[in-house]
Amino acid sequence: MSGTLFVVATPIGNRDDLSPRARHTLENAGLVAAEDTRHTGRLLSYFGVKTPLIALHDHNEDQVVAVLIEEITAGKDVALVSDAGTPLISDPGYRLVAAAHAAGLRVVPVAGPSAVVAALSAAGLPTDRFCFEGFLPAKPRARAERLRALGAEPRSMVFYESVHRVRDSLVAMCEAFGNDRPAFIGRELTKLHEQCLQAPLAALLQQLDEGDIPCKGEFVIVVAGTIAGSASSWEEDVLLTELSAVMSAKDAARVAARITGTKRNEHYARILALKDRE
Ligand code: SAM
Repeated sequence: MSGTLFVVATPIGNRDDLSPRARHTLENAGLVAAEDTRHTGRLLSYFGVKTPLIALHDHNEDQVVAVLIEEITAGKDVALVSDAGTPLISDPGYRLVAAAHAAGLRVVPVAGPSAVVAALSAAGLPTDRFCFEGFLPAKPRARAERLRALGAEPRSMVFYESVHRVRDSLVAMCEAFGNDRPAFIGRELTKLHEQCLQAPLAALLQQLDEGDIPCKGEFVIVVAGTIAGSASSWEEDVLLTELSAVMSAKDAARVAARITGTKRNEHYARILALKDRE
């Protein structure tokens, strides 16, 4: 009987986030396929797991996938892990999982940490619909083009970012989405120096420049999507949301018009758009 390919999520910083099920799976597998065997070796030895390791990364995938498919077909359980978080999420493993399905083998996710979900859960931005953009292109022109293509994206957008490019990306995001677009930075999530900050894009950039957000560690940026046909500011959105929570949309639009001097019907349309997003 053939074995199973377990796709095992590991911590993104805090080792206590390794689930008992993940530990049990790593212990009981015949082989752990890891992005970096030294890195995963340290995690396994911390938990006293002695399962043998095999390296599986972008440069040896073709050969190693064939070996692993053979092993699973012959009856061995294999656990796939990456350096941190969930394999395949901006990490290797896609070819192995695709090959396992093609070979008719059982694939089982052992769910756990992932920076994209951790960031969304703390961002305080709409999460009913979101899109994961992973890493932006490194070259300025390609990055600007990618962001421009997202200009009308209504869903919250999640970006992974390296310490070397986080500032350039924030500058490019201010250009593409406007300084006032609500956003979030999750830095060093689950670790000792974790920061979770929500503010308009330009304010986050300022905090980075002033050192309130140290340019160190790992970053996730979440940017709120746009609301079609709207030029309203974040502060106005907060005002409209608060007012419409305690009075009818019509009254909220009337009161907001008195405060801001903007037309009542524009506020009314905005309230409906905001309610639509809830
Ligand atoms: N597979 C991982 C996952 O499930 O999140 C992602 C791997 S990807 C190569 C690494 C990127 O994820 C980092 O550059 C950063 O953008 C994000 N990341 C990973 N751990 C993080 C953490 N503890 N805090 C913030 N961002 C993190």
